[in-house]
Amino acid sequence: MASSIKNTLDVGALLGPGRRTIAVDSLIDVPAFDELRFVEPAHVVLDLRGVDRGIRIQGTIDAEVVADCRRCLGEVRIPLHLDVDERVAAGEEADPFADGNVLVGERLDLGDLVRQLTVTALPMGALCSEDCPGLCPQCGRNLNEGRCDHGEP
Ligand SMILES: [Zn+2]
Ligand SMILES: [Zn+2]
Repeated sequence: MASSIKNTLDVGALLGPGRRTIAVDSLIDVPAFDELRFVEPAHVVLDLRGVDRGIRIQGTIDAEVVADCRRCLGEVRIPLHLDVDERVAAGEEADPFADGNVLVGERLDLGDLVRQLTVTALPMGALCSEDCPGLCPQCGRNLNEGRCDHGEP
């Protein structure tokens, strides 16, 4: 059963001696970003394992995101299934000011992890369909809904 938890996870146990593992099966609320919106919390199933100077993250992320079609601005729903196999650096190797560091101190930001992996996985600019005719450049009509008087799209 997935349970909803806070978006950050204390991974201190992984970083100390003993190299424990943490299993995560959670629903993560991901804020909208880059014109992408999450329909529901992302379902995150991950195994976190302490490795040399960092954490290895393996598992899956399932979510459904909504984007705007880059031609007609209509809503596009994109189901997302990501296989995750990432390693994040911890301690002195990690730069807390680096852009996109999901590990800050002993807290792993799962929302940020989902965001970064989503950005990597999705092509730039969604399309509602491959042959979306977009908007008429003269009157702005959505040509998916019919022609206007401004010639062939
Ligand atoms: Zn479109
Ligand atoms: Zn027109």
